[in-house]
This record gives sequence, structure tokens and C-alpha cells, in this order.
Amino acid sequence: MSELSINKKSGWEDLSENEKNEIYNFANQYMNFLNIAKTEREVIKEAENLARQNGFKSINEYAELYPGDKVYYINRGKNIYLAVIGENSLEGGINIVGAHADSPRLDLKPNPLYQDGNLAYLKTHYYGGIKKYQWTAIPLAIHGIIVKENGEKIYVNIGENEQDPVFTITDLLPHLAKEQQQKKLSEAINAENLSILVGSIPDKDEEKDKVKNNILKILNKKYGIKEEDFVSSELEIVPAFKCRTLGLDESLIAGYGQDDKVCVYTALRAILNVQKPKKTAVCLFSDKEEIGSMGNTGMESHVFDTFIAELLNKTRINRPNLLDKVFCNSKMLSADVDAGLDPIYISVSDTHNAGYLGKGVSLNKYTGSGGKYNSSDANAEYVAEIRSMFNRNNIKFQVAELGKTDIGGGGTIAYILANKGVDVIDCGIPVLSMHAPYEVTCKYDVYAAYRAYEAFLNNR
Ligand code: MN
Ligand code: MN
Repeated sequence: MSELSINKKSGWEDLSENEKNEIYNFANQYMNFLNIAKTEREVIKEAENLARQNGFKSINEYAELYPGDKVYYINRGKNIYLAVIGENSLEGGINIVGAHADSPRLDLKPNPLYQDGNLAYLKTHYYGGIKKYQWTAIPLAIHGIIVKENGEKIYVNIGENEQDPVFTITDLLPHLAKEQQQKKLSEAINAENLSILVGSIPDKDEEKDKVKNNILKILNKKYGIKEEDFVSSELEIVPAFKCRTLGLDESLIAGYGQDDKVCVYTALRAILNVQKPKKTAVCLFSDKEEIGSMGNTGMESHVFDTFIAELLNKTRINRPNLLDKVFCNSKMLSADVDAGLDPIYISVSDTHNAGYLGKGVSLNKYTGSGGKYNSSDANAEYVAEIRSMFNRNNIKFQVAELGKTDIGGGGTIAYILANKGVDVIDCGIPVLSMHAPYEVTCKYDVYAAYRAYEAFLNNR
């Protein structure tokens, strides 16, 4: 191969047996994480556990902060920001890795429970970009919280243990689906029909809605709730499958919610390794990315700014407008998954500018759609700095676009930080079947991302 060409070999080709074992071990730990953290609240809780085990303390536990201190802040149970204070003043900028903890799913509607015929259902409202037909006829679990009027919080998790019941959304048998099968894929399943089946036994003491009322009695017995309590709940319907190793060579990972928990986990593990960096190292895990990053737990909120301002206060350097300056001097990897090139659907990819499974972390200089519209386009100077850092640290990377021009597009939280003045580039992991109930990643890339984020957080 010419010395002048980009090396596009698979990462697997140059590995020693030891390195391969390390990759497989890391993947096992990641898969365990995915199996206990399927929702944003569960991700944040698990991130806090791991952080505390590794010497991080809540920002409220520190009166002042000094180099080497490890600190975190949790916003409403749905975001966590972690920082390791650097030797240099924050004024010179910080290194940020940002991922999102939410994934596409089905949320229960505020008034979900109803009976139709002799069956009881819970109505859902889908969250994020899903292909609705993928969510029918698979086992589903309910995760989330119900908050009672008195503020008491009830944690719900049904469908993960082997002994638990599961739920499903029924689909039409092919024998009678002639009409349905003629429809456009996007119209074959009506959003209002995404109701999960929850019961069939009538309560003989009731006059009407006997099955529904029986379900209410079961819920009351189990959780002490009444129907109105659903209005102050956040109950998320997620696939009940376990995350598993995929393939005869065991090189791949199949699991729900890898967008973007694969970047959350690799970034989290990376910051847990950081000790007394030169620049302050920060990880942020946001919420609501899949629905536009709005609201007080989305990246568009100013809660992250408040956290950084608090770091300035507690390192005793804050003064008017310093926060703006910190952002202008800062650098970020927006850690989000990339569309992996799928040979079965090759027509949507520009093969020269696609992210391939097994070829390392993928950098997206820009995302957006329809002529880079709405994208944050990383500056060439910054891209040079990042690729030089990866090359120095022997981290395999590829630079890709999200599909062919004019085929579609997408975005991440990159632009939100870039708007504050931060240098940002998207840097994530190629995924197949993105946003499906079962997404596929490659173990090589997962480990490469972990190494990439660690190198970046330690970057001077
Ligand atoms: Mn994502
Ligand atoms: Mn997504």
C-alpha cells in the first residue's frame, strides 16, 4: 500500500491475542452496563455509582476545588456532569466529551390504560425517530417512575427478570394482512395503535371495563396507585431483550439503546481513568437528544453552564464573563454514534465517506442534511489537532458522513456547544440498525472509542 494513501484496513487485522482479549473483556463490561441501564434515569444512576466508586464526589460536598479533585453534578436524575480538575486554570479551556443518555423508545401516554374488547392495553406515544413496525411483536419491558401526589416516588421495572411477565404490541397475522402489506412501510403501523397488551382477566365484581378494572386492582395492590397517578409518571417501554455478543467470531454486540449509551459508557470509563490532567477534563451526559435537546434536562438548557460556572467559583477564579471565555478556549468531542455502512443497504452510503464497522472511531466533520443545513462544521484546524492526537496515541479512526448527500441526514448535540464558542467535532462509533430495538456495534470500535476519549480528556 502506498505510504500516501489513507490506511483503510480493518482494526482487527493488526491485533495481538492480548489486545483482542482486552477488547472482549471491555465489551463484556459494557454489555453488563447496557443490561442494567436501559433508560436515561438508569444510566445516570449507574454512572453515579461508578463515579463514586472511583473517587468522585458531588459538587455540594466540596467547599473549594483543587487540581486532581473529582466532582460531579446530577440534574433532575437525567443528566450527569463529571469533572476532574486540571493543574492549569480553567480559564485556558477545558476538554469535554459529551454523549446522550436517552434512546428512542415508547413512552406511556398520561392516560394510558383502557380496555378494548376483552383485553386491556396501555397507550403509548413514541419518543424519538423510530420505525414503528419494528416495535410490534417483540417482548417489551416497562421501566420508570410513578410520582404520587405526596411526592413519593415508585420505581417500576417489569420484564427484565426471567420470572417477570413481559408485554408486546400485537401485529396482524399475514393471512389477513393483504391490505396492510400494500401500505407504505411508514403507514403500515398507526402510531395510535402502538398499545401494549397488559391483561385479559375480567373482574367479576365490576359492571363494565372488567379487565381494565382488574388491572387497576393489581396495580393498586402492587404499587398502591390509582389511575390518576399515571398522569405524574414517566414510564418508558423498552425492548425486553438482553444485550448479547453477536456473530460466530463473537466480534459484534447486539443490544437496545447503544445510541448513545455506547458513547456514554466508553466516555464514562475514560474519565474514571483520568488523574490530575493538565486541563480540566469534563464528561457530560445529556437527555432529550432524540427529541431535539429541549427542556431543562436537554443540552439546550443552561444547567451545564451553571455547573462550569460553579467550577469557576469553587476554584476561586470566577469573574464577570469568564464563563464565555472558558467556552471559547475549550474543546469537545461530541460522542454520538454514526451510521455504520450496511452492505445490504449500500445504496444510501457514499462508500468513500462512510463509517465502517471494525475500522475504529468515526469522526463526522459535519452532520446536518440538504447541503450541510443545521450542521456544526468543525474547523479544519481543529480536525488537524484531533487527528494528530489520535495518530500520536495509535488510535484507529475514520472520517465519515452520515450517508450520501441528499439522502437524509441527522444531528447531535455538537452545535449547541459549538454555539457557545467551543471547538467541537462528532466522534463516535458506527452502528447498524440505528434506532431499532436491537442495534449492532463492533467490539473493536467500542474499545477504540474508550481509548480515544481517554486520550482526548488527557490532552494538553
Ligand atoms: Mn445519538
Ligand atoms: Mn439517535
